[in-house]
Parts: sequence; structure tokens; C-alpha cells
Amino acid sequence: MHEMSLCEGVLQVLEEQARIQSYHRVKQVWLEIGALSGVETEALRFSFEVVCRGTLAEGARLNIIQIPGRAWCLPCAKSIAVSHRYDPCPDCGGHQLQVTGGDEMRIKELEVE
Ligand SMILES: [Zn+2]
Repeated sequence: MHEMSLCEGVLQVLEEQARIQSYHRVKQVWLEIGALSGVETEALRFSFEVVCRGTLAEGARLNIIQIPGRAWCLPCAKSIAVSHRYDPCPDCGGHQLQVTGGDEMRIKELEVE
């Protein structure tokens, strides 16, 4: 599962940061997830719980912040909002779009002790 490897990546960051910032427990994690990242939030929550079992982030609360997708429409020469990767431009109906945001996932904030 795609979400499982994403969570393993997140856990790696949490463990690295624990060494740098010398915390020993992660209580909450805020993750920013772009609408175009293709991440299933329910699958992500499930994977997070599984991956974090027996680690410093066991039982940590996962907060998901959805980031809307943005793309640049070449014919319209402007930035538009898109909710799915292959959606056409809402103004001209065209597909000459370059995704400019909302296709990533990143850790925004942590609550640790
Ligand atoms: Zn357009």
C-alpha cells in the first residue's frame, strides 16, 4: 500500500527529529496533504497507527490538513483550483494544466514531550 510507505517515511522523520530535538514521545502530528497527492486519508490513518505501533509515536494523534490543488492553465494564463489531477480547467475546459501545488505531503507540526 502506497500509504504504508508514506507513513514509514513520516516515522523516519519523527525518529530523526527525536535525536536532534531530544524528545522521546510524539503526541500529535499535523500532516498537510495535497488534494492531488493521491493519498487516501482513511488508509493513511490506518497505516499510521500500524506503522507507529511499538515506536515513539505509538498512539499519537494524526491531524490531517487538506491542501487544495492548484494548477496553471496555459490557455487562460492563470492559476486555477483543481480537486483531481486530471480535471480540466473550470474556465476553458482545457487540459493544458501544470500542477503548481497540492500534490505533496509534509509534516507541518508536531507535539512532542
Ligand atoms: Zn483554462
